[in-house]
Amino acid sequence: MKRRKFIGMLAGAGACMAASTATAGGTHHFKGYPESFGVLFDSTKCIGCRKCEAACNKVNELPAQPVPFDDLAVLDSRRRTHHDTFTVVNKYSVNDKPVYRKQQCNHCLEPACASACFVGAFVKDKTGAVSHDASKCVGCRYCMIACPFEIPTYEYHDPITPRVRKCTMCQPRIEEGKLPGCVEDCPKGALVFGRREDLLNIARERIRKHPSIYIDHIYGEREMGGTSWMYISGVPFEKIGMREDLGVTPAPELTSGALSLVPAVVGLWPMFLTGAYALTKRREKIAEEEQHHAVAEAVAEAQSEAAKKAKAAMEKAERDKQAAIDREVKKALKEAEEARLKAETPADPSEQ
Ligand code: SF4
Ligand code: SF4
Repeated sequence: MKRRKFIGMLAGAGACMAASTATAGGTHHFKGYPESFGVLFDSTKCIGCRKCEAACNKVNELPAQPVPFDDLAVLDSRRRTHHDTFTVVNKYSVNDKPVYRKQQCNHCLEPACASACFVGAFVKDKTGAVSHDASKCVGCRYCMIACPFEIPTYEYHDPITPRVRKCTMCQPRIEEGKLPGCVEDCPKGALVFGRREDLLNIARERIRKHPSIYIDHIYGEREMGGTSWMYISGVPFEKIGMREDLGVTPAPELTSGALSLVPAVVGLWPMFLTGAYALTKRREKIAEEEQHHAVAEAVAEAQSEAAKKAKAAMEKAERDKQAAIDREVKKALKEAEEARLKAETPADPSEQ
C-alpha cells in the first residue's frame, strides 16, 4: 500500500472504529471525531481517467453503466451522482486547460443531511463516514433538499422499496483496514486517505511548498463546519463547479433550535406530522403495492395452472384420437385380410 495514498492508518484503527457510532439524527448535535479519517483530493494531479468511478462501481456492486468507464467522452458533459453512481469526475476548462474534479459525498463533520433527517437514518461514525440506514428511512427526502452539495439521490424507479443512495466512504472497507475503492485505484495519487488532521497538514505543506501551483485554500477545512473529504486546487474552486458561498457554519447550528429539537418545538410539528404522514402514506402505498403484487401473482399462478391442465387435456385428447385411428386402421386391415383370405379360398363343390 502506497504511503501517499494512506496516511496515518495504524494497525489498531479497525478496532478503534468498530467500537462505537453516533446517531446523527435531527435530535442530536455532534461535533465530529478528532481522530476520524478523510480523503484529500488534489485536482492538480487528477487526469480524468475515471478509474475511481470504475472502482466505486465495483466495490459497491453497482449496476453496469451504459457508457464503459474507459470511454472518456462523458467528461465533456456535466454529470452528477446518481442512485447507481456514487462518484463522478467532471472536466472543466480553465484558461483553456482541462481541470478535473471528483464529486461524491463529502462526509461532512456535522452533516446537513443528518440534521434534516428526523428519524436518525444518517450516522456519522468514528471512521468519518456518514452512512445511511435504509431500514430507518421513511422516504421523506428532506436529506436531499438539505445537502448543500446535492449528493443524496433516490431510487425513483423502484416502486416497492426505493432507497436514498450515496457514497459510504467505503466504511466497511475502512473497518477492515482497507482503502476506499476509489483511493486504491487512482493511478495518479490524486486521492490520499488518512486521518483528517494529517491530510490537512499534507495539504498545507503542498500549498506552502508550491504557491505557484496551488491556490491558498483547502476546500472542506471549514466549509459548512468542515468535511471529511477535502480538496486542493490550482484554480479557484468556483471554476471547477464548487460552491464558495456556503460559509463555515455547521448545518446543525443553522437549524439550531429547530430540526435538532423537533419534538419540543411546536412550530415544527407540521414538519413532524408531514413526516409521520409521509411514513403512513408510504407504508400504505407499499401495502397496496404488495397487495397488487400478491393478486397479480395469484392470477398468474391460476393462469399457469389452467394452461397446464388445458395442455394435459389436449395431449390426452390427441392420444385418444390417435388410439381411435389406430383401432380403425387395425380393424380395416383385419377386414381386408379376411376378405382376401375369403377370396382365395376355393369354392366347395358340394355347394354347387
Ligand atoms: S455531502 Fe451532503 S450527503 Fe454527504 S454528509 Fe454532507 S450533507 Fe450529507
Ligand atoms: S482515478 Fe484519480 S486520476 Fe483518475 S479520475 Fe479518479 S481521481 Fe482523477
